[in-house]
Amino acid sequence: MSQLRLNPLTGRWVTVAAERAARPGELISRQLPVESEPGRICPFCPGNEEATPPELESYGPNGTWLVRVVPNLFPAFEGNDPLRVQNLGPVFTQAMASGVHEVLVLSPDHASSWAELDDKHAGLAMAAIRDRMEDHARRATVRYTQAIVNMGREAGASLEHPHGQLLGIPFVPGEIAEEEAGFRRFTGECLLCTIMEAELQADHRVVLDDDRVLVICPFWSGAPYEMLVIPRTHEVHLEDTAPADVVAVGRGIRDALALLRSKVGDCAYNLVFHTAPHHHEGPFHWHVHIVPRLTSLAGFEQGTGVMINIVAPEQASRHLSS
Ligand SMILES: [Zn+2]
Ligand SMILES: [Zn+2]
Ligand SMILES: [Zn+2]
Repeated sequence: MSQLRLNPLTGRWVTVAAERAARPGELISRQLPVESEPGRICPFCPGNEEATPPELESYGPNGTWLVRVVPNLFPAFEGNDPLRVQNLGPVFTQAMASGVHEVLVLSPDHASSWAELDDKHAGLAMAAIRDRMEDHARRATVRYTQAIVNMGREAGASLEHPHGQLLGIPFVPGEIAEEEAGFRRFTGECLLCTIMEAELQADHRVVLDDDRVLVICPFWSGAPYEMLVIPRTHEVHLEDTAPADVVAVGRGIRDALALLRSKVGDCAYNLVFHTAPHHHEGPFHWHVHIVPRLTSLAGFEQGTGVMINIVAPEQASRHLSS
């Protein structure tokens, strides 16, 4: 069972997942490109369904699946205990890492990716995320659900087969608390609705735009070709969003990733879905960050949290939409 430990310097929780421990040699090999070990079966390929725990959901035409959700075999968060914080002396604060850790298999095709999903399939991937968020929201002990897709070794993927993860955790993480504070600080109606209006008006950083979804390279991009996918209809929680808008975001992500690949190349990236915490009060507008891993974080960024972006977002969006 994993443990949460509080970093008293930052006030942020760290998860120590000892069962996932790797020997030093394995840590070094994580630097190498993702490739299946020869002879090792891929647990996410059709026909190998027994290699994963029994599925929680599956989506696809009768009897077959296009998208599956299964429990993670090595969960970083597990169990239904509420967050019980223990103080061991003045500086050691810990808690059990209870919660949910699930895998979202995005396609039966081992060599595919979100960039290649057709409209219907991209919609199914989003429907799966929406359904799991709804399930997590019903659990009293899950405060926030982070959905992610890591593509490529530089982005942290450990298996080649296209997949995402859903982590239901027992606290509101620092990153989300900061974004919530940003929404609260903004004196207008909604921060992201206002950003959409302003970006459409400026028209320097718009990558894709239809009546349901907007993709921009944000004004404040911290990484080259960083993109933000925003549903045009204001909604606080992903799971409360109308199906047509949820599906449109799936297509928007697909189109943005396809542009990234055709204009920049087949780079590693992270998709980060940000929605308001469950049982939440206050302003928010859910959205998806696309963060290409074209550069790595160096000491300055690590030490200060201040990003240095060597490609201006205006330049990036012009290149992507040219
Ligand atoms: Zn596979
Ligand atoms: Zn809004
Ligand atoms: Zn965000």
